[in-house]
Amino acid sequence: MRKAVFIYSRELEEHSYPPEHPFNTIRPTRVREILNSMGLLSGNARSEIPPEPAEKTVLQKFHSARYLHALEAASAGRRDADALRMGIGTSDCPVFEGLYDYAVLAVGATLTATKLILSGSADVAFNPSGGFHHAGPERASGFCYINDVALACLTLAEAGKKVLYLDVDVHHGDGVAYAFYDRDDVMTISFHQNPGTLFPGTGFADEIGAAKGKGYCINVPLPIGTYDQAYLEAFEAIAPPLITAFNPDVFVFELGADALAGDPLAQLYLTNNVYADVLACLLGFNKPILMTGGGGYDLENTVRAWALAWTVLCGADSDAQPGIDAGGVRLESTDWQGGLRDKELAVSSHQRNTVLPAIEAVVKAVKANVFPLHGL
Ligand SMILES: [Zn+2]
Repeated sequence: MRKAVFIYSRELEEHSYPPEHPFNTIRPTRVREILNSMGLLSGNARSEIPPEPAEKTVLQKFHSARYLHALEAASAGRRDADALRMGIGTSDCPVFEGLYDYAVLAVGATLTATKLILSGSADVAFNPSGGFHHAGPERASGFCYINDVALACLTLAEAGKKVLYLDVDVHHGDGVAYAFYDRDDVMTISFHQNPGTLFPGTGFADEIGAAKGKGYCINVPLPIGTYDQAYLEAFEAIAPPLITAFNPDVFVFELGADALAGDPLAQLYLTNNVYADVLACLLGFNKPILMTGGGGYDLENTVRAWALAWTVLCGADSDAQPGIDAGGVRLESTDWQGGLRDKELAVSSHQRNTVLPAIEAVVKAVKANVFPLHGL
């Protein structure tokens, strides 16, 4: 039985981005309500733990003191041109009441999970308030101020662990990819919408890392309209062989839910079944998994996707249906009425004909660029 920890505190929803901003800090609370009503946050080695705020010295492992100072000052109402030059106070990364406290607690939640995994108190952990993968050492970007996932990978690597960072947010996980671009102890794999058509405009298949890190940064840009079967084809062809070759000690999994069909900020066409399948694949490696939230701008879809992901992560799917593997989660019989799994989406032949050739091309490119560096 996996020791599964859900990291949550109601304090995290006390702060919110401005009302017109797409990032909604209520999402983790909604996920928690569903899971609690299903009885999935206690018993069977499952528990819920509140986050510790991150300490500044820890944040400085990735961010500059100058940047953290500007962020804290801006949050307290002292904003200057220097802060704006670092992306603080833009429309994407606005300054709002309690910003610094929120960022430090949300990031602290991921670092609390990291500690629990390092100490062996957790086999798997989920911080739905994490996944701020765009923040740079001196840059707020894409709704992200402090990069919790980069900090988690750094902390795990410092403890001597080989880390596999997998990012399925619809946007390229640029902040993390570039943090480890020249390192071979943290492999980053990001599946995202073609950066030619979406923020942040990076993450093409030929960005593969540099120096010692060459071949340890993997980018899989996906065409607009990518649907479940096409996505899984790319995932199966690329991720398991690389993970096997790298042989990580631990996974950090950024589960942005903005690749789901209908997300207002992107144009992929997935159902949450893909996330369950990807997670089942990771679980098959039998290593600790630190999972975070991330993007996801259709509130209901995001909340269901994360709730479903927790059921798979903590093994509740196999409680519910013994004999059915994680790829076959069915939870419709629970008191959560609609079930957590999305219905299959119809795919038009036009969509098939445009998506499949692009998927085949990107798989071919990634294999050619990266696989030989790992003897594959
Ligand atoms: Zn995103």
